[in-house]
Amino acid sequence: MEFCTSTVWEELQNSQHGVQWSGVVWFPQAIPQHAFLVWLLVLKKLRTQDVMIRWNPGNANFSLLCCSLCTRGPDSHEHLFFECDVAKKVWYEVRGKAGMDRIQQTWTDIFEYLVGIAKSNMAEHIIAKIVVCATAYFVWEERNRRLFTDKRRSKDQLVEIMLSTVRMKLHTMRFKNSIHTTRVMQEWSLPRGLLVADDDCG
Ligand SMILES: [Zn+2]
Repeated sequence: MEFCTSTVWEELQNSQHGVQWSGVVWFPQAIPQHAFLVWLLVLKKLRTQDVMIRWNPGNANFSLLCCSLCTRGPDSHEHLFFECDVAKKVWYEVRGKAGMDRIQQTWTDIFEYLVGIAKSNMAEHIIAKIVVCATAYFVWEERNRRLFTDKRRSKDQLVEIMLSTVRMKLHTMRFKNSIHTTRVMQEWSLPRGLLVADDDCG
């Protein structure tokens, strides 16, 4: 990527009052690499083939490249997140864990939901943001893996690594005891030792 991760991360921190949607990617419990990826995704700055064509309109080779996940659709932001058949299946498997069962696979719908909960301190909303960012991150990572190497992971493997990464993150957090939190902790099989008396989720 052409951006320096640390620089962008600093920008993210500084922009939290300036960009309306910054709370979607920048929040205390965010996983930095995932937030960075989604920041680029929202700004449509990932180096997808449709973006590369705009940068190099005379290079016809780019038109030959399509989505490396399904090998049918375009290699574009809209397709990869998550209209692609492969990415969509991943999203359908994990969205329930984010409390987003009714949110379809289009990034517009997902992002609109996230903007609505961006400033919420409820555990289920913070987890929703972590889950979406992790899903986008691992879909993009798999896209690159298949595009640039001979290796590939199955949909089930993608779901498993994404869920285990989020679960590890949740084990570093503390949760305020409430009915909502209890349901979320059961969903993720989190130990009650992560509960705190009065503090906010964090
Ligand atoms: Zn695809």
